[in-house]
Amino acid sequence: MPTTITKPGCFATLVTNAEYGLGAAVLGQCLQDYNSKYSTVVMVTKNVPEATLTLLASTWDVVLPIPELNSNDTASLALLQRPELGVTFTKLHVWKLTEYKKVVFLDADTMPLCNIDDLFLYNELSACPDAGWPDCFNTGLFVLTPDVETYDGLVKMAADEGTFDGGDQGLLNSYFSSWAHGDIKKHIPFVYNVNPNASYTYLPAYRRFSKDVKNIHFLGSSKPWHYECQDGAIIGANVSQHLRGFLEQWHASLNKALIEEAAAEPEFIQFRSTGGSISGGESVVSVLSHIAGQIKDKDTQREKVKTGQL
Ligand code: UDP
Ligand code: MN
Repeated sequence: MPTTITKPGCFATLVTNAEYGLGAAVLGQCLQDYNSKYSTVVMVTKNVPEATLTLLASTWDVVLPIPELNSNDTASLALLQRPELGVTFTKLHVWKLTEYKKVVFLDADTMPLCNIDDLFLYNELSACPDAGWPDCFNTGLFVLTPDVETYDGLVKMAADEGTFDGGDQGLLNSYFSSWAHGDIKKHIPFVYNVNPNASYTYLPAYRRFSKDVKNIHFLGSSKPWHYECQDGAIIGANVSQHLRGFLEQWHASLNKALIEEAAAEPEFIQFRSTGGSISGGESVVSVLSHIAGQIKDKDTQREKVKTGQL
Protein backbone atom coordinates (compact mmCIF):
# COMPACT_ATOMS: atom_id res chain seq x y z
CA MET A 1 0.00 0.00 0.00
CA PRO A 2 1.47 3.40 -0.92
CA THR A 3 2.20 5.62 2.03
CA THR A 4 1.67 9.37 1.93
CA ILE A 5 4.76 11.15 3.11
CA THR A 6 3.85 14.22 5.10
CA LYS A 7 6.71 16.66 5.43
CA PRO A 8 6.85 18.61 8.66
CA GLY A 9 6.61 22.10 7.23
CA CYS A 10 7.62 24.70 4.69
CA PHE A 11 7.89 28.42 4.22
CA ALA A 12 5.80 29.58 1.25
CA THR A 13 5.29 32.74 -0.76
CA LEU A 14 3.49 33.89 -3.90
CA VAL A 15 4.84 35.52 -7.08
CA THR A 16 2.63 36.60 -10.00
CA ASN A 17 5.08 38.86 -11.84
CA ALA A 18 8.73 39.87 -12.20
CA GLU A 19 8.63 42.63 -9.55
CA TYR A 20 7.46 40.39 -6.76
CA GLY A 21 9.93 37.82 -8.09
CA LEU A 22 12.74 40.09 -6.94
CA GLY A 23 11.08 40.34 -3.54
CA ALA A 24 10.79 36.56 -3.28
CA ALA A 25 14.44 36.13 -4.34
CA VAL A 26 15.46 38.27 -1.36
CA LEU A 27 13.13 36.40 0.97
CA GLY A 28 14.43 33.00 -0.19
CA GLN A 29 18.00 34.25 0.11
CA CYS A 30 17.41 35.41 3.71
CA LEU A 31 15.76 32.11 4.71
CA GLN A 32 18.84 30.32 3.33
CA ASP A 33 21.31 32.77 4.93
CA TYR A 34 19.76 32.23 8.36
CA ASN A 35 19.92 28.44 7.92
CA SER A 36 16.25 27.59 8.03
CA LYS A 37 15.81 23.84 8.39
CA TYR A 38 12.43 23.93 6.63
CA SER A 39 11.77 23.57 2.89
CA THR A 40 10.84 26.64 0.89
CA VAL A 41 8.08 26.72 -1.74
CA VAL A 42 7.42 29.65 -4.06
CA MET A 43 4.03 29.51 -5.82
CA VAL A 44 4.16 31.09 -9.28
CA THR A 45 1.45 31.93 -11.80
CA LYS A 46 1.60 31.61 -15.57
CA ASN A 47 2.76 35.14 -16.42
CA VAL A 48 5.97 34.98 -14.40
CA PRO A 49 8.82 35.44 -16.91
CA GLU A 50 11.46 32.79 -17.50
CA ALA A 51 14.29 34.93 -16.06
CA THR A 52 12.35 35.29 -12.80
CA LEU A 53 11.74 31.53 -12.65
CA THR A 54 15.49 30.93 -13.03
CA LEU A 55 16.27 33.38 -10.23
CA LEU A 56 13.63 31.78 -7.99
CA ALA A 57 14.94 28.28 -8.72
CA SER A 58 18.29 29.30 -7.25
CA THR A 59 16.78 30.82 -4.07
CA TRP A 60 13.87 28.45 -3.31
CA ASP A 61 13.70 24.66 -2.99
CA VAL A 62 10.46 24.30 -4.98
CA VAL A 63 9.05 26.59 -7.69
CA LEU A 64 5.41 25.52 -7.93
CA PRO A 65 3.14 26.64 -10.82
CA ILE A 66 -0.42 27.36 -9.62
CA PRO A 67 -3.54 28.91 -11.20
CA GLU A 68 -4.29 32.60 -10.57
CA LEU A 69 -7.33 33.68 -8.55
CA ASN A 70 -8.67 37.23 -8.44
CA SER A 71 -11.20 38.97 -6.19
CA ASN A 72 -12.18 41.38 -9.03
CA ASP A 73 -13.46 43.71 -6.30
CA THR A 74 -12.46 46.98 -7.97
CA ALA A 75 -14.58 49.17 -5.66
CA SER A 76 -12.89 48.08 -2.39
CA LEU A 77 -9.48 48.07 -4.05
CA ALA A 78 -10.07 51.63 -5.24
CA LEU A 79 -10.74 52.62 -1.60
CA LEU A 80 -7.37 51.11 -0.68
CA GLN A 81 -5.82 52.77 -3.76
CA ARG A 82 -4.25 49.36 -4.54
CA PRO A 83 -5.90 48.05 -7.74
CA GLU A 84 -3.24 45.34 -8.01
CA LEU A 85 -4.25 43.53 -4.81
CA GLY A 86 -7.17 41.46 -6.21
CA VAL A 87 -4.62 38.92 -7.34
CA THR A 88 -3.56 38.30 -3.72
CA PHE A 89 -6.54 35.90 -3.54
CA THR A 90 -4.12 33.50 -5.23
CA LYS A 91 -2.50 33.17 -1.78
CA LEU A 92 -5.41 30.91 -0.80
CA HIS A 93 -3.75 28.18 -2.82
CA VAL A 94 -1.36 27.72 0.10
CA TRP A 95 -4.10 25.62 1.80
CA LYS A 96 -3.62 23.10 -1.01
CA LEU A 97 0.00 22.33 -0.06
CA THR A 98 -1.24 19.25 1.75
CA GLU A 99 2.02 17.34 1.60
CA TYR A 100 3.17 19.65 4.42
CA LYS A 101 1.78 19.43 7.94
CA LYS A 102 2.20 23.14 8.52
CA VAL A 103 3.06 26.17 6.39
CA VAL A 104 4.38 29.60 7.30
CA PHE A 105 3.23 31.93 4.53
CA LEU A 106 5.26 35.10 4.01
CA ASP A 107 4.53 37.90 1.53
CA ALA A 108 7.18 38.35 -1.16
CA ASP A 109 7.85 41.85 0.24
CA THR A 110 9.12 40.56 3.59
CA MET A 111 12.75 40.29 4.73
CA PRO A 112 13.68 38.14 7.74
CA LEU A 113 16.54 39.58 9.82
CA CYS A 114 17.32 36.31 11.63
CA ASN A 115 16.25 32.65 11.73
CA ILE A 116 12.45 32.55 12.15
CA ASP A 117 11.96 28.75 12.28
CA ASP A 118 10.32 29.17 15.71
CA LEU A 119 7.18 30.30 13.84
CA PHE A 120 6.47 26.58 13.27
CA LEU A 121 5.58 26.34 16.97
CA TYR A 122 2.37 28.24 16.22
CA ASN A 123 -0.87 26.66 14.98
CA GLU A 124 -3.52 27.69 12.45
CA LEU A 125 -4.41 30.47 12.22
CA SER A 126 -1.68 32.46 13.88
CA ALA A 127 -0.60 35.89 12.67
CA CYS A 128 0.54 39.32 13.86
CA PRO A 129 -1.70 42.32 14.49
CA ASP A 130 -2.06 44.75 11.60
CA ALA A 131 -0.48 48.11 12.45
CA GLY A 132 -3.38 49.97 10.78
CA TRP A 133 -6.18 48.06 12.59
CA PRO A 134 -4.74 45.82 15.31
CA ASP A 135 -8.00 43.85 15.77
CA CYS A 136 -7.26 42.46 12.32
CA PHE A 137 -4.25 40.31 11.58
CA ASN A 138 -1.88 41.24 8.81
CA THR A 139 -1.70 38.59 6.11
CA GLY A 140 1.92 39.32 5.19
CA LEU A 141 2.78 36.45 7.55
CA PHE A 142 0.57 33.65 8.86
CA VAL A 143 0.81 30.07 10.05
CA LEU A 144 -1.67 27.55 8.61
CA THR A 145 -2.46 23.89 8.26
CA PRO A 146 -2.98 22.93 4.60
CA ASP A 147 -6.40 21.36 4.12
CA VAL A 148 -8.51 21.30 0.96
CA GLU A 149 -11.70 21.70 3.03
CA THR A 150 -10.43 25.01 4.40
CA TYR A 151 -9.50 26.07 0.87
CA ASP A 152 -13.03 25.24 -0.34
CA GLY A 153 -14.52 27.09 2.66
CA LEU A 154 -12.49 30.19 1.87
CA VAL A 155 -13.43 30.15 -1.80
CA LYS A 156 -17.10 29.68 -0.87
CA MET A 157 -16.97 32.60 1.56
CA ALA A 158 -15.31 34.75 -1.10
CA ALA A 159 -18.05 33.86 -3.59
CA ASP A 160 -20.92 34.34 -1.07
CA GLU A 161 -19.75 37.39 0.84
CA GLY A 162 -16.79 38.89 -1.02
CA THR A 163 -14.02 40.52 0.96
CA PHE A 164 -14.25 43.81 2.83
CA ASP A 165 -10.96 45.19 1.52
CA GLY A 166 -10.91 43.58 -1.92
CA GLY A 167 -7.83 41.51 -1.05
CA ASP A 168 -6.93 38.35 0.86
CA GLN A 169 -6.58 40.16 4.20
CA GLY A 170 -10.27 41.06 4.40
CA LEU A 171 -11.36 37.53 3.48
CA LEU A 172 -8.97 35.75 5.86
CA ASN A 173 -9.93 38.04 8.74
CA SER A 174 -13.61 37.25 8.11
CA TYR A 175 -12.99 33.50 7.87
CA PHE A 176 -10.73 33.33 10.92
CA SER A 177 -12.76 35.97 12.77
CA SER A 178 -12.11 34.45 16.21
CA TRP A 179 -8.45 35.54 15.94
CA ALA A 180 -9.09 39.00 17.47
CA HIS A 181 -10.68 37.83 20.73
CA GLY A 182 -9.93 34.11 20.76
CA ASP A 183 -6.81 32.18 21.71
CA ILE A 184 -4.00 34.63 22.52
CA LYS A 185 -1.50 31.89 21.60
CA LYS A 186 -2.44 32.62 17.99
CA HIS A 187 -1.21 36.19 18.28
CA ILE A 188 2.34 36.25 16.95
CA PRO A 189 4.41 39.15 18.31
CA PHE A 190 4.51 42.23 16.06
CA VAL A 191 8.33 41.94 15.78
CA TYR A 192 7.77 39.15 13.23
CA ASN A 193 5.94 41.47 10.82
CA VAL A 194 7.15 45.05 11.23
CA ASN A 195 6.43 47.73 8.70
CA PRO A 196 9.52 50.00 8.75
CA ASN A 197 7.16 52.98 8.70
CA ALA A 198 5.77 51.92 12.11
CA SER A 199 8.50 54.20 13.47
CA TYR A 200 6.41 57.19 12.33
CA THR A 201 3.41 56.27 14.45
CA TYR A 202 5.16 55.25 17.69
CA LEU A 203 8.78 56.34 17.63
CA PRO A 204 9.57 55.69 21.34
CA ALA A 205 8.40 52.06 20.98
CA TYR A 206 10.41 51.73 17.82
CA ARG A 207 13.52 52.99 19.67
CA ARG A 208 12.87 50.63 22.57
CA PHE A 209 12.08 47.47 20.59
CA SER A 210 13.68 47.84 17.14
CA LYS A 211 16.68 45.71 18.18
CA ASP A 212 14.24 42.78 18.61
CA VAL A 213 12.74 43.00 15.12
CA LYS A 214 12.87 39.62 13.36
CA ASN A 215 11.16 40.27 10.05
CA ILE A 216 10.55 43.43 8.01
CA HIS A 217 7.44 43.78 5.84
CA PHE A 218 7.63 46.50 3.17
CA LEU A 219 3.84 46.81 2.99
CA GLY A 220 2.14 49.58 1.01
CA SER A 221 2.56 50.70 -2.56
CA SER A 222 6.29 51.63 -2.37
CA LYS A 223 8.34 48.47 -2.55
CA PRO A 224 12.13 48.05 -2.19
CA TRP A 225 12.49 47.34 -5.92
CA HIS A 226 11.08 50.81 -6.69
CA TYR A 227 14.19 52.40 -5.15
CA GLU A 228 17.46 52.80 -6.95
CA CYS A 229 20.53 51.62 -5.10
CA GLN A 230 24.05 52.59 -6.17
CA ASP A 231 27.26 51.40 -4.51
CA GLY A 232 25.19 50.05 -1.64
CA ALA A 233 23.36 53.36 -1.02
CA ILE A 234 19.73 54.21 -1.75
CA ILE A 235 19.38 57.21 -4.06
CA GLY A 236 16.83 59.83 -3.00
CA ALA A 237 16.44 62.27 -0.16
CA ASN A 238 12.90 61.54 1.03
CA VAL A 239 13.65 58.27 2.80
CA SER A 240 13.73 58.00 6.60
CA GLN A 241 16.90 56.69 8.20
CA HIS A 242 15.25 53.43 9.42
CA LEU A 243 13.73 52.71 6.05
CA ARG A 244 16.97 53.54 4.23
CA GLY A 245 18.93 50.98 6.26
CA PHE A 246 16.39 48.21 5.58
CA LEU A 247 16.19 49.10 1.89
CA GLU A 248 19.98 48.92 1.59
CA GLN A 249 19.95 45.55 3.33
CA TRP A 250 17.26 44.35 0.91
CA HIS A 251 19.30 45.46 -2.13
CA ALA A 252 22.43 43.80 -0.72
CA SER A 253 20.49 40.51 -0.42
CA LEU A 254 19.17 40.85 -3.97
CA ASN A 255 22.72 41.39 -5.12
CA LYS A 256 23.84 38.29 -3.30
CA ALA A 257 21.02 36.23 -4.85
CA LEU A 258 22.00 37.45 -8.33
CA ILE A 259 25.69 36.71 -7.78
CA GLU A 260 24.91 33.22 -6.47
CA GLU A 261 22.63 32.58 -9.43
CA ALA A 262 25.42 33.71 -11.76
CA ALA A 263 27.82 31.30 -10.07
CA ALA A 264 25.35 28.45 -10.41
CA GLU A 265 24.48 29.28 -14.03
CA PRO A 266 27.69 29.89 -16.04
CA GLU A 267 25.77 31.55 -18.88
CA PHE A 268 24.87 34.42 -16.50
CA ILE A 269 28.48 34.95 -15.45
CA GLN A 270 28.64 38.36 -17.15
CA PHE A 271 26.53 39.91 -14.33
CA ARG A 272 28.31 42.79 -12.74
CA SER A 273 26.80 44.10 -9.58
CA THR A 274 28.08 46.95 -7.45
CA GLY A 275 26.57 46.94 -3.98
CA GLY A 276 22.99 46.85 -5.15
CA SER A 277 23.07 48.37 -8.63
CA ILE A 278 22.92 45.77 -11.32
CA SER A 279 24.35 46.12 -14.77
CA GLY A 280 25.01 43.73 -17.63
CA GLY A 281 23.51 40.26 -18.01
CA GLU A 282 20.63 39.83 -20.41
CA SER A 283 18.53 37.88 -17.99
CA VAL A 284 18.53 40.49 -15.21
CA VAL A 285 18.15 43.31 -17.69
CA SER A 286 15.04 41.62 -19.05
CA VAL A 287 13.62 41.24 -15.53
CA LEU A 288 14.30 44.88 -14.76
CA SER A 289 12.82 46.20 -18.01
CA HIS A 290 9.75 44.02 -17.46
CA ILE A 291 9.44 45.64 -14.01
CA ALA A 292 9.74 49.14 -15.48
CA GLY A 293 6.83 48.28 -17.81
CA GLN A 294 4.72 46.92 -14.96
CA ILE A 295 5.37 49.96 -12.77
CA LYS A 296 4.22 52.16 -15.64
CA ASP A 297 1.06 50.05 -16.00
CA LYS A 298 0.46 50.34 -12.29
CA ASP A 299 0.86 54.13 -12.38
CA THR A 300 -1.67 54.28 -15.21
CA GLN A 301 -4.06 52.10 -13.18
CA ARG A 302 -3.64 54.31 -10.08
CA GLU A 303 -4.30 57.41 -12.16
CA LYS A 304 -7.50 55.75 -13.44
CA VAL A 305 -8.60 54.97 -9.86
CA LYS A 306 -7.99 58.59 -8.84
CA THR A 307 -9.91 59.99 -11.78
CA GLY A 308 -12.79 57.53 -11.26
CA GLN A 309 -12.26 55.59 -14.49
CA LEU A 310 -11.76 52.33 -12.56
N1 UDP B 1 1.51 39.63 -5.01
C1 UDP B 1 1.99 39.24 -6.26
N2 UDP B 1 1.71 40.03 -7.33
C2 UDP B 1 1.02 41.21 -7.24
C3 UDP B 1 0.55 41.62 -5.99
C4 UDP B 1 0.83 40.80 -4.88
O1 UDP B 1 2.64 38.20 -6.38
O2 UDP B 1 0.83 41.89 -8.26
C5 UDP B 1 1.75 38.74 -3.85
C6 UDP B 1 3.13 38.94 -3.23
O3 UDP B 1 3.52 37.75 -2.56
C7 UDP B 1 2.82 40.05 -2.24
C8 UDP B 1 1.47 39.59 -1.69
O4 UDP B 1 0.80 39.05 -2.84
O5 UDP B 1 3.82 40.19 -1.25
C9 UDP B 1 0.62 40.70 -1.08
O6 UDP B 1 0.72 41.91 -1.83
P1 UDP B 1 1.50 43.17 -1.24
O7 UDP B 1 2.69 42.69 -0.49
O8 UDP B 1 1.75 44.13 -2.35
O9 UDP B 1 0.43 43.77 -0.24
P2 UDP B 1 0.74 44.73 1.03
O10 UDP B 1 1.60 43.92 1.95
O11 UDP B 1 1.44 45.94 0.50
O12 UDP B 1 -0.63 44.99 1.58
MN1 MN C 1 3.15 42.63 1.63
